[in-house]
Amino acid sequence: MAEERLKVLLTRRWPEPVERAIAERFELTLDSADRPLSQTDLASAMAEFDILCPTVSDRIDAEVIAGGDRVKLIANYGVGFDHIDLAAAEARGIAVTNTPGVLTDATADIALTLLLMAARRAGEGERELRAGRWAGWRPTHLIGSALAGKVLGLVGLGRIGIATARRAHHGFGMRIAYYGRREADPAVVEELEADYFADLPGLLAASDFVSLHVPGGAETAHLIDAEAIAAMKPGAFLINTARGSLVDHEALAEALANGHLGGAGLDVYPEEPAVPPALLGLENLVLLPHLGSANEETRVAMGMKALANAEAFARGEALPDRVV
Ligand code: NAP
Repeated sequence: MAEERLKVLLTRRWPEPVERAIAERFELTLDSADRPLSQTDLASAMAEFDILCPTVSDRIDAEVIAGGDRVKLIANYGVGFDHIDLAAAEARGIAVTNTPGVLTDATADIALTLLLMAARRAGEGERELRAGRWAGWRPTHLIGSALAGKVLGLVGLGRIGIATARRAHHGFGMRIAYYGRREADPAVVEELEADYFADLPGLLAASDFVSLHVPGGAETAHLIDAEAIAAMKPGAFLINTARGSLVDHEALAEALANGHLGGAGLDVYPEEPAVPPALLGLENLVLLPHLGSANEETRVAMGMKALANAEAFARGEALPDRVV
């Protein structure tokens, strides 16, 4: 088969069944130590491989893309592609694919994990117990917020936004509102009994919980800035499983410290794996290390989707998940 000769680089270790499947069809290179590649190594890879398979932890910028002209497909392991300079790729005739859909449920599960943990003060409680500071059950101990009847405002009602809303509405009795550039599919709106806001401040002012589900990138950078946070209800909660770039973390830390916000839950940060230091000491904040898609079934499915794109590329067929 023609595709057996194509050289594929995985920048990080992938689940073993996927690595095995890729190695059966392509000449596979991977770093057994699973260390992030430097920008220089990524640039060199552009001259050495036919297919580059990066993850969210690789910055595939214009300089990297200019590193060589052998790579003709960037098959990203993940749905978000704000770490890849699409214009630079397109200008050099490089196709970019992603892995939409297969991580929707896992990421929505993590949005609900953060929402529940923040609302019910689970992180605070666990830290207290482990530190030997728990003084026993009492009517006023670590009182959180109920979910039923509260408004969950989704910023972006795409795949993960909808899956999050479904869990919150059908599972926890929350009312659903959303902001987006356009109204969602009427069948989804009807199922969720969702209220549409054409303006973000309107959604923020109406929501008890706000959950972010738009992509990262220049258009959405600091969408949740000091002004947006001020527009949120006093005591409201902010949940972010989308991208760290969406939030001004200085402003968020300030609002959590001064009590304007009741709490927050974050899975993503602007310069991962760094976490803005202002966040670390805040008791009313739940911090997860980018676990959105981190379950076995999902991580295998993401790899198989990237492989399907690579196979289609090798056969000269239309790419199933082409971004550019
Ligand atoms: P999706 O189905 O494409 O949904 C994105 C939504 O955002 C769409 O409704 C889109 O609406 C809206 N949108 C895009 N640009 C916007 C803008 N500038 N202003 C307002 N709305 C905008 O994507 P998804 O699969 O739900 O994934 C969403 C994001 O989650 C990904 O991009 C990724 O960054 C993040 N994610 C994180 C994890 C994790 O591990 N924490 C895992 C998976 C995904 P229209 O384009 O129709 O206007």
